[in-house]
Amino acid sequence: MSFQSLGLSEALLKAVSKKGYTTPSPIQQKAIPPVLEGKDVLASAQTGTGKTAGFTLPLLHILSENPKEKYRPIRALILTPTRELAAQVYANVKEYSEFLNLRSAVIFGGVNQKPQAATIRQGIDILVATPGRLLDLQSQGLLSLKRVEIFVLDEADRMLDMGFLRDIERVIKSMPEKRQNLMFSATFSKDIKKLAHGILNHPVQVEATPENTTVEAISQKVYRVAKGLKTGLIIKLISEGNWKQVLVFTRTKHGANRLCEKMIKSGITAAAIHGNKSQGARTKALAGFKTGKVRVLVATDIAARGLDIPLLPHVINFELPNISEDYVHRIGRTGRAGASGEALSLVSADETTFLRDIEKLIEMKVPVEIIEGFEPDPNASTQPEKRQQRGGGNRSRNSRSNNSNSQKSNNSRRPKRNSDSRRNDRRN
Ligand code: AMP
Repeated sequence: MSFQSLGLSEALLKAVSKKGYTTPSPIQQKAIPPVLEGKDVLASAQTGTGKTAGFTLPLLHILSENPKEKYRPIRALILTPTRELAAQVYANVKEYSEFLNLRSAVIFGGVNQKPQAATIRQGIDILVATPGRLLDLQSQGLLSLKRVEIFVLDEADRMLDMGFLRDIERVIKSMPEKRQNLMFSATFSKDIKKLAHGILNHPVQVEATPENTTVEAISQKVYRVAKGLKTGLIIKLISEGNWKQVLVFTRTKHGANRLCEKMIKSGITAAAIHGNKSQGARTKALAGFKTGKVRVLVATDIAARGLDIPLLPHVINFELPNISEDYVHRIGRTGRAGASGEALSLVSADETTFLRDIEKLIEMKVPVEIIEGFEPDPNASTQPEKRQQRGGGNRSRNSRSNNSNSQKSNNSRRPKRNSDSRRNDRRN
């Protein structure tokens, strides 16, 4: 199937070809036609599937076909959970609309609102936003959603995880009832289905599993190590392997900072990316990592969500996540687009249960290695340390992968977390 056969306009085909895409990805093949027909769509897809173009291309097609007014009201709203994702989606919107007479803007928190408000005032057709800043500007009367024709809710499951349900409901109330709705989510819990039911009108359901992020395709290894020796081990692995682009996951923001400092001290360029970092610092860290200036990016799960870093050769779990699904998300960042990738986990005794749960989820045993001088502590307790669990830690550890083919089951079975704890960790 070609992009031409999907019925997209010449201007869009030109932009797509400029990006170097030759064939629409499965989610694009499935989602673009119903969106072009004006239908509501509920799509099961996550980062890496080409979902952004899946909703952006037809959205741009529809908007460019309708006559513009001199004063441009916001006609399309794309809501995303994180600042990084908003920036990435916006970059895509800009690229795909290069040959169209459409204007767009992105707004998110953590940066000065004035330039954002000024851009909106000049008139834009498409707005990409995170919920907090959107509602902020709206409550100040700096933007109106009363003319929105197309609403896209991207990564809806993350939205709920991060405690944005109320915000989404408020946003929806401020849009006209008659509009086209597109909802994208990697998982379909009861909460997501409920949300979809409230937003979508007779939706066409489409789904796509990521093409190259199956767990089996990724080379995984566990290093059993004493807790206190992890930093030494990770520095040794990165230095001796002469690894150039490594994404490291820690469970906490403090942990990310500490590890980052130690790496820098030992001569490895590193940057941390988490919710306590300013937007400027995050963008700089990500840009440095992409260009190769920064060898190691240390991230927390939520901060890393949605980051588009193609062809990542190494992912290291400095600590295992207590939620098994997060492991699958993390290691899914390597081995993309057919490139070979390696996912390593440094596992201390107290993480034994997490490892067991992960292995249950991915239905395979991860090979274990012990490096001389970095042996595990035989006397350490195998009980999970009482550290603050993300969001109260009551999410299922046994729920099935949403990143593997089991996604088809359309059920992530994630128990609900209380809204306060979600709010507390939304910037993790
Ligand atoms: P997404 O899932 O939207 O985050 O997209 C994942 C990556 O795939 C991005 O780097 C896109 O630029 C790229 N991409 C999207 N559509 C296509 C396509 N049809 N062919 C090749 N690459 C694509």
